[in-house]
Amino acid sequence: MSPISPEGLVVEARDIEADAQLQRRASGLIGGLVTNNEFEVEQVDVVGDVQSNVPRNLSEALEAARDGDEVALEMVRSNVTTDYFERAYKSGFVSEVTLSRRPNGDIEQYGQSIEDVHMNSLRFLGNEKLIDRAKVETLNSVRDRHYVNSGLLKDNARVTFSLVHDQMDDEEASEVGFFVHTRSISIQVMTEREDGEIIVQSAFVAGRENLSSEIFDRSAVIRLAEKLGVDYSDCGSEDILGRPLVVNKSMIPNLSLSIVEMFDVAATEVTGRDKFFGRDTDSDHDKDYLEKMKESQKLTSSMKENIDSVVSELVNFRADTPLQATEKLAELNDKLLKERIVVDESIDARVLGVETAYHVNHARAILSSNVLAREQQHRQLQILQRKINLGNSSSCPGGAGGNKTDELSDIFDLASTLVDNQDESDSESLEDCEFVSKECPKCGEKNVKTECKDGVYYGACGCASE
Ligand SMILES: [Zn+2]
Repeated sequence: MSPISPEGLVVEARDIEADAQLQRRASGLIGGLVTNNEFEVEQVDVVGDVQSNVPRNLSEALEAARDGDEVALEMVRSNVTTDYFERAYKSGFVSEVTLSRRPNGDIEQYGQSIEDVHMNSLRFLGNEKLIDRAKVETLNSVRDRHYVNSGLLKDNARVTFSLVHDQMDDEEASEVGFFVHTRSISIQVMTEREDGEIIVQSAFVAGRENLSSEIFDRSAVIRLAEKLGVDYSDCGSEDILGRPLVVNKSMIPNLSLSIVEMFDVAATEVTGRDKFFGRDTDSDHDKDYLEKMKESQKLTSSMKENIDSVVSELVNFRADTPLQATEKLAELNDKLLKERIVVDESIDARVLGVETAYHVNHARAILSSNVLAREQQHRQLQILQRKINLGNSSSCPGGAGGNKTDELSDIFDLASTLVDNQDESDSESLEDCEFVSKECPKCGEKNVKTECKDGVYYGACGCASE
């Protein structure tokens, strides 16, 4: 192992001796992908899998699960779970998945090699900036494979910071699946446990409080890195992603939670406001990181039945292509989220977009008050649910539903227009009323008195819906 930071406990991926070779391997993989057609790429996949019957992607997993394969079913369940929680929680959430090793040294997640995951996304991404990001992620997964196989992750953890693409404006970023309201950052930590299990934790933190506040995602990460002896100061979001850190575990006893804590210290210094998972908090608020992780686990198990029903519906879906399977997964989870968001206040109302957040807040207020007669309450909630159903959710950038192909996107737009028109008559029946929003979707002010008049929302904070 080569040159290490002054403390000897943090090293940059690019300073590791094997890195030049790993970069060549990644370029080779990507180059092969660019010059070959899809059929040949499939062939490359098959070579790595020749002895196993492991499904290589979601559509194969669905097929195997239909035939009673328990491992494949588990792979589908993990896929659905991760996607749902990435859709619903953009900060203050921590997830953990276990990876496994194939005899040939490949590392797999949900039955698919981690290199293939990113290579596959290169095949159908339409956005140039996302394609470049997938190339960086392919390199990182080549690095990860090497770190695991060389034993580096026994005493160390690989840490990456995935920020909202800083060469995209809010509109473009949001279109491809970034959560721009709080500029959500995914902090990913990969390591090997004592029992030899390879795990990846993803912790989601905010990079700004709300749309009208100061952006601190990049500056806080730069400051955090500086404390670790790493200079990210001239880095944009993509450079930061492309420069993973290998950190000795003695420095981060709680893995991703330790990094989140460092991030909060840095964000607090940068913004002058007390931060917990990147969000504003009272200085006397107990910042219990382990408790927050337990909450994430509780949320996950509380959704088990809902997830199971998505899984069984998905398994019964016959997908002709991997993309179809992924789109179906996106559709089902999007539907689940739209049902849950009204009753589950732990979900940020803005995950379906700012305009939809007004309807979510309205529906939540109606549910928690007894002012309306039951019949009337039911009618209003029905109208609001239809409006909420027009919102758009997304999981990881470029992931299912966050990056529709042009053709699909046209179909979705058309569908929205049709529903919009059909909905015209409904907006009249949304009764004028007043309620208290827990949080204004635009400025983030808490407990805002909100008036709904002719279907438009006016907050006492001065913000209004469109
Ligand atoms: Zn406001």
